[in-house]
Amino acid sequence: MKLETIIGLEFHIQLKTGTKMFCSCLNTLKNKKPNENVCPVCLGHPGTLPVINQEAVNMAIKAGLALNCEINNFTKFDRKNYFYPDLPKGYQISQYDKPIAENGWLVINNKAADGLAGRLDKEEHLTRIGILRLHMEEDSAKSTHFKDKTLIDYNRSGAPLIEIVTKPHFTTPNEAKVFAEEMQLIMRHLEVSDANMELGQLRCDANISLRPKGETKLYAKTEIKNINSFKALEKALHHEIKRQTVLWTTGQVPTKEQTRGWDENKQETVAQRTKEQDHDYRYFPEPDIPPLTFTKQEIKNHQAYLTELPQDKRRRFMDMYELKGPDAKLLSADKELSFYFEQIISELKNWLQALESVEGTEEEIWFKHKKKLVKLVSNWLINKFIPLLTENNLQLNQNKISAENFAEFLTLIYQNKINSANAQLLLKQMLLTGGDPSHIMDEEDLGQINSEEGLDKVIEQVITENPDQVKEYQAGKEAVLKYFVGMVMKKTKGKADPQKAEEVLKQKIQSL
Ligand code: ZN
Ligand code: MN
Repeated sequence: MKLETIIGLEFHIQLKTGTKMFCSCLNTLKNKKPNENVCPVCLGHPGTLPVINQEAVNMAIKAGLALNCEINNFTKFDRKNYFYPDLPKGYQISQYDKPIAENGWLVINNKAADGLAGRLDKEEHLTRIGILRLHMEEDSAKSTHFKDKTLIDYNRSGAPLIEIVTKPHFTTPNEAKVFAEEMQLIMRHLEVSDANMELGQLRCDANISLRPKGETKLYAKTEIKNINSFKALEKALHHEIKRQTVLWTTGQVPTKEQTRGWDENKQETVAQRTKEQDHDYRYFPEPDIPPLTFTKQEIKNHQAYLTELPQDKRRRFMDMYELKGPDAKLLSADKELSFYFEQIISELKNWLQALESVEGTEEEIWFKHKKKLVKLVSNWLINKFIPLLTENNLQLNQNKISAENFAEFLTLIYQNKINSANAQLLLKQMLLTGGDPSHIMDEEDLGQINSEEGLDKVIEQVITENPDQVKEYQAGKEAVLKYFVGMVMKKTKGKADPQKAEEVLKQKIQSL
């Protein structure tokens, strides 16, 4: 029997509004002691009234539009009743039959092995994932379970969430992972959520079932919870496919829906409970909150504020800058970094045009040197600058290097005014002080010795001071050359161009 896999995903995404969903408590956990960030509304005291947070509504609309959803011009809230300690009112204010957004879709590249690197222009590699609905709701409190007790922190209670439910359109764990990663990027680009999985700002549950190939019926599914990373999502789904395949091939076709948790230590899914059906929640309209209506124009206005989405940016970076997939992915994943990258490019064009040695208009220069320039920028950003940030425990928004200074720095490298090793020192100084690259270069004496005379002198010195090594080299031991280069670098305090030094050394020793 050939089995096929059917997967659907459910996301809960914490919106980064200023205040909670229905009260004026701040929507932040920063510097808060447990149960400090609460008020009678989010603690569900009798007689209190919830008031809708307009900022959360706007964010939900934005997210819905970015996911190609229809925004309902009539939407309402409902009470989802269940009795659990993390829910002070005994119900969650959510949305049932009239969610704010429905019927969306997102196209992903199902061949993108490392997730997002793939292009979106090869028809056969594309999968269109339907999005069933997107609704608003409030978060529950956070429970921390111990052996003999459970502690509850209500600071999170009433924080605004959007829940996004996809259609069961995924056929592989990789597709599900690619989609979840894209979801994170979209939420970050829209600035509706930081979508950090470890912090619970993006939570993802997966529904999975198998069926004999060719059948259209859906069998009882398993819902996997406690997934705390994209890798875990993929692993949990693989594990579940294996587990369910065994059930199918041993005649134990699943008939009951089940909730299982991903156990990171055991690397397997563990049974938690059989799932409650919808009717167990006794949904009914929230009487304290009037429905919301939107005009077509209001929805259109939101559309106008949508920024370039990550997929489009990635594609543009590949087309415009001819970046390879992984580099385009890296430079476009973070909105701030992508702006920085493009600012540097634009500043670099100015710097180059100002150079006497480079001829032509800005556009001509760009056209002629594009490959080299983009490589220069992307290499220094990805391989040197980002690691330097990490090393110094800095976030991009603490970066002191202006795009203009970064471009000037790259121009110095482009003109061979500084070698690569010293350029790294210079970059670090720039990061820590915010200083101007040519000033720091002069002050710290990092500039490359370019005058032939200067270099010649040092090299001659090194040769006279090391007669034994000269003999070794002349006897055929070529490795000695590296020793000489090292001596030259030492004497010039790292300012010589090592390649050039090697060339001159060879010539000089051979002509002895
Ligand atoms: Zn409150
Ligand atoms: Mn929910």
